[in-house]
Order: sequence, then structure tokens, then C-alpha cells
Amino acid sequence: MDSAATQCQVCWRVRDNRTEGSSCAVWSDMQTFMDNHDVTSHSPSFSEGYCPQCTTLYHRLTQEHLYDA
Ligand SMILES: [Zn+2]
Repeated sequence: MDSAATQCQVCWRVRDNRTEGSSCAVWSDMQTFMDNHDVTSHSPSFSEGYCPQCTTLYHRLTQEHLYDA
């Protein structure tokens, strides 16, 4: 009954919200996430989302697109 991790739909990094001793979320690539959480024995479930970097990039691109129109 593990909490589902969030996977960025742009860069495919996974939000590692189960890292102990860390107050802020860490976005790891899939391989790092697998190594940290030993999820090779079962398929982890991911919810769709966007990491902060891609969110910022998305807003920037959207705004530029709007301004360009
Ligand atoms: Zn991303």
C-alpha cells in the first residue's frame, strides 16, 4: 500500500517522496528511483504530473506563445 509516486510527463523523472531524512521532494530519474526503492520485484504505479522545472518551462513557453499571437 505504498503511496504512488508522481512521474513528470515531460522529462519522465519520478518524484521521490519516500526519501527519508529529506524534507523536500527529490525528482530522480527512473533508474535512480528503482535503485533507491527496490521496486524491481513489482511494478510501481505512478500518477501523472509535472516537475517544478517542467512546470516553469511550460508556463514560460505558454506565455511566450500567447505574447507572440
Ligand atoms: Zn519534468
